[in-house]
Amino acid sequence: MSRLSAIRDALAKSPNNPSLLLLHGHACVEELQLDEALKMYERVLDIDPDQIEAQLGIARALLIRGDSSGAAVRVERVLQNEDDCAQAHLLLSRILLGEGDRARALEQFEKAVRIDAAVTDVGLEQELGRSAADVRRSVASSLLQNDTPFSSSSDPLPPSGDMGSDMSDDFIDEPFDEWRPETFFTPGDSERTKVNFDSVGGMEELKEEIRIKIIYPLQHPDLYKAYGRKAGGGILIFGPPGCGKTLMLRAVAGEVGCNYFAIGLHEIFDPYFGSSERNLHQIFETARSNSPCVLVFDELDSLAVDRRNVRESPMRNLVNQFLSELDGLRADQSRILVIGATNSPWNLDPAFRRPGRFDQTIFVPPPDRPARVQIIELLAKDKPIAHLDVDTLAKLTKGFTGADLKYVFDRAAELSLSEAVHTNRPVPISMDLLTDIAKNYHPATDDWFEGARPHVQQSAQDGLYTDVRKFLSAPSGARNE
Ligand code: ATP
Repeated sequence: MSRLSAIRDALAKSPNNPSLLLLHGHACVEELQLDEALKMYERVLDIDPDQIEAQLGIARALLIRGDSSGAAVRVERVLQNEDDCAQAHLLLSRILLGEGDRARALEQFEKAVRIDAAVTDVGLEQELGRSAADVRRSVASSLLQNDTPFSSSSDPLPPSGDMGSDMSDDFIDEPFDEWRPETFFTPGDSERTKVNFDSVGGMEELKEEIRIKIIYPLQHPDLYKAYGRKAGGGILIFGPPGCGKTLMLRAVAGEVGCNYFAIGLHEIFDPYFGSSERNLHQIFETARSNSPCVLVFDELDSLAVDRRNVRESPMRNLVNQFLSELDGLRADQSRILVIGATNSPWNLDPAFRRPGRFDQTIFVPPPDRPARVQIIELLAKDKPIAHLDVDTLAKLTKGFTGADLKYVFDRAAELSLSEAVHTNRPVPISMDLLTDIAKNYHPATDDWFEGARPHVQQSAQDGLYTDVRKFLSAPSGARNE
């Protein structure tokens, strides 16, 4: 089977896989099947209109066809968005040389080499002759003067004309009117919807709770008012590692139509006395002035620690501050939803679970079979997999977390890719390979349940553990079914 037909086969199994479409496009160009190549690149651009490799692929195909002005338009479009794309400058150099504009061709060649000293186009360099060699030599010597290794193509160099200049002006931070966390999304951000509830398999109860607490109140304010309900509150999600809590926190940003702030612990903790409390206060102030909003704390157990277990007063002060900030939200009726996630809820100070704080708690267990089906379908999407039997795989992976399932797919992709590299043709991921990897993998959620057991037993009356208790008391054969 030729390389091109092998790629066609793989693509039939995964028709919207951008990497395979690109591979197909490149293979078609090599075999001068230009119509098919153009079709493949256009399909990549339908998925991602800014995909540079596809734009340049189209430019190359047009150039081979003799349409140099069409090719130039495509390349210039890339350079408008990405002026430091060495491959685009190199291609433009070739286009200009073809049009007889040798001076500008050299200029573009120089730009390409200055951006990435490792770019090559042997044919072009031969046609540009000695002058191309001069460009390489002069770039090499200016690099040596700047003490930068010539061969480092992974470190793009400043564009032509900026070599060695003082760049500090480019790095002056834009001043913010107010403090913002590193991860925040405003309603109009295009990035935010890339991960949403559809990206998370299972967890239906949690998804609905988030809709009730923040999405519906924003969509139907009058209705909520009529029933005396308001947006906001606190939700604590907990469960074994790898079950998708962090993924879910990110997906919330894709669903809610309001501001979203995810707080990293490093944005709170500060060794100077009183600074951590001040930072935490600042976070809540920012949330208040941007409400309605969602405020997210992953690894909550490191922040909301049980005060009975800490001696150092700074940590106790921080916990007190956190509690009073949460109470403040309730008092001033802020439309702020606070979501915290943890693997070890038993390490939290019980005061966090009082009404008005994290009063809604949701246990995220390892996914049951229907949830595993959803996760497997998500993980398999756009991957070249031959004869995937989702139900069989879901049955075989009882007790696996979403992260464990991801490992199975990642490992299978790695092994198939390694075979593809050695045989120089795409090798679809086979169901046998997925099954083999899954059979030899031992999920670790049992350890989490064993660790949870004493806490669950000690707190027999605590509603927090109702679902964990149910899970532990189910016959082992029925768990995760
Ligand atoms: P930890 O407590 O260790 O941080 P976690 O519960 O937050 O674990 P994630 O980090 O969200 O779990 O999951 C790891 C990865 O596993 C995710 O990025 C995702 O690829 C996959 N995954 C886990 N659960 C799901 C799920 N329910 N749906 C889809 N993918 C999932």
